[in-house]
Amino acid sequence: MTDEDKDDTELIKQAARSILKDEIKHLHLVSPAALKLLRLTTDDDARIDNLSHIIETEPVLAAKILKQVNSAAYALPNKMTSINRAVNMLGFSTVRQLALNLQFYDKLIQHNSTNTFDLLFFWQHCLYVASLSKRIAVALDYPDPDLVYTGGLLHDIGKIVLEAHGRITYSDYICSIGDNKHSTTEEERSFFGITHTEIGHAFCLEWQLPVSITAIVACHHNQPAKSSPYAEFKTEIAIVSFANYIAWIQGIGSATYDSHPTLQSDLLETIDIDQLNLEVLLQQVDQDMQTTQEFYDTQLPGLTTLRAALVKATINLSQISEDKAFTVNPAYNKKSSSLTVPHHSLNPNEFIPRTLEAIQDEFSFDRCIMFTIDPKRRCLLAPYWWPKSTLPTELQPFEVDISDISGLLLKCLREKKAVLINANKERDNPIIQRLKTTEFIAIPVIHHNNLVGMLYADNSLSKKPMHEQLLPEIMPIAYELGVAIFNANQYGQEKKHAQIDHLTQLYNKRMINNFLADIFQRDKSKLANIAIGFIDIDRFKQLNDACGHQAGDDALKIVADILRNSARPGDFIGRYGGEEFLFVLKNTNETGAQGYAERIRSEIERRGKILSRRFHGQIMTVSIGVSLYSPRYTKYTDMIEVADQAMYRAKNEGRNRTVLLPGVETVEK
Ligand code: GH3
Ligand code: MG
Ligand code: MG
Repeated sequence: MTDEDKDDTELIKQAARSILKDEIKHLHLVSPAALKLLRLTTDDDARIDNLSHIIETEPVLAAKILKQVNSAAYALPNKMTSINRAVNMLGFSTVRQLALNLQFYDKLIQHNSTNTFDLLFFWQHCLYVASLSKRIAVALDYPDPDLVYTGGLLHDIGKIVLEAHGRITYSDYICSIGDNKHSTTEEERSFFGITHTEIGHAFCLEWQLPVSITAIVACHHNQPAKSSPYAEFKTEIAIVSFANYIAWIQGIGSATYDSHPTLQSDLLETIDIDQLNLEVLLQQVDQDMQTTQEFYDTQLPGLTTLRAALVKATINLSQISEDKAFTVNPAYNKKSSSLTVPHHSLNPNEFIPRTLEAIQDEFSFDRCIMFTIDPKRRCLLAPYWWPKSTLPTELQPFEVDISDISGLLLKCLREKKAVLINANKERDNPIIQRLKTTEFIAIPVIHHNNLVGMLYADNSLSKKPMHEQLLPEIMPIAYELGVAIFNANQYGQEKKHAQIDHLTQLYNKRMINNFLADIFQRDKSKLANIAIGFIDIDRFKQLNDACGHQAGDDALKIVADILRNSARPGDFIGRYGGEEFLFVLKNTNETGAQGYAERIRSEIERRGKILSRRFHGQIMTVSIGVSLYSPRYTKYTDMIEVADQAMYRAKNEGRNRTVLLPGVETVEK
């Protein structure tokens, strides 16, 4: 381990200490028997005896194992009364698995059910990942399938640690993200200050679990870097990550509201997925799950084939951006303005429609569309149509789910090849069906081998036939379009850096000033209805001192998120400085501005209460000062100044409240 790794580990342990009610080593999550079970490895000569011994010394465990082996699932001719015989008969690996399942999850599942974080559902996920990991390992001839079983079973142990021992629990977290938001490890970090993989990692280190298991727990969302001490376990990690991914895309995730992890590209370099017969694997795992039903009464749907197809399609699509098949042939034979139009502007809303127009003009197509890709929702969007009149209102917004795509269109996206698609051959193509065309061409728009969109053209009105020869002529235009989109993104990012506060992703002070200067200069008539709110976190220094600067930063991000979520179109919010934020509302009045400020204040208070245990008992609140426009303000800075004064009054009157000026009204909390 390098010094840097040690520093990282220390930081994780520190973060874990601040979020847990007790030191990890005092957590009653792992019994001595479970630890011993975990540490038994396949190359241990006396492993069967050791395993029997461990089980025999835990009466409850022994009883359950015997009950299990004597259940109908194993169809033994005589009742089994000796653990040692059971182990010999069923095999080391089966018995150890049963024992591990029981040790880790039995207790938890018994005393949960009302919490938002459904532990039964969670356990089903872990069991599924464990079983699938093992099956994959066997299929790949990996030498130690038991190891990945255990890794799969424990990969999300961090969530359990947080749920059972966090100052704020995983249930609190799930409550706080609400129904319609998806969870990511980044959101976990902003809520807990640590992710479930990090806390799991800290747990494994503290309990000295085998390093292979620790590696799986720590890296199942991110493959280890070459220099990482866990790099030697990259196969094990890749197997469990892949099994985890498959579980998620079938809806067998670990918490109802989570969004599933992405399929990591380096994972596909580590294990050869083509070697796997997914249909068979999923069937086997269904059977594995079946055998545990007797104990745990869980039901999984048996739609194996359907799921196998879904899994295959998703894997294929995840590979799109990794493909290196496409290279542009610069030998195009038509000099056209469509090649230069993409570079006439840095604004995609300008140059994309103009490029479509140029293509339509030069090739006389009836209709041209530029599709873009929404990687999160895994769909194609069609924001640009030319002529605009060809987009009928009933088709708006036009979206195509990527999992509905197959055949040549899939080839276009996956292999980055231009294609001509004909309705006679591809009747099921969702674009043909919805756009009612008999044929169309699809050209991938790429940059640096990444797919950034797809050009579409058809002759659906004139019914003029389309020819394959068109494809190499349009490909260079698509290439230029890819470059232009990349440049526009670069430009957009640089512009954003100058305008956006890095920590909170809100507008920075410079942008706030520009924005206000602009309205004060330009449109005096609209000034009458504007309000400025000055928000300052209460006793923020105290929070920083008690919980550390990192926790303080997280609190800032949480406040920023709340502000963002409360904003309506047209509202302006920014970070004015340290723990100060500012909002500008247009078209409002005293009641409107006050109502808005109060909503923010009470939402922050509500979230602060949920988070108080994380912030060592401190409840995060804010004081808000609001100024309404009056003709006596000649400069925007005067109006900010008054909002600032109102905020100070709110502080003096006890904090966690809103004060509005020039009115003198104060809203009590
Ligand atoms: P009051 O209720 O009167 O506003 O008390 P306060 O402690 O919030 O006010 P004060 O102005 O004394 O302290 C503000 C603190 O905010 C001090 C500073 O360390 C902290 N701070 C400013 N910017 C950041 C930041 O980006 N991250 C973190 N973690 N802390 C910050
Ligand atoms: Mg403050
Ligand atoms: Mg302050």
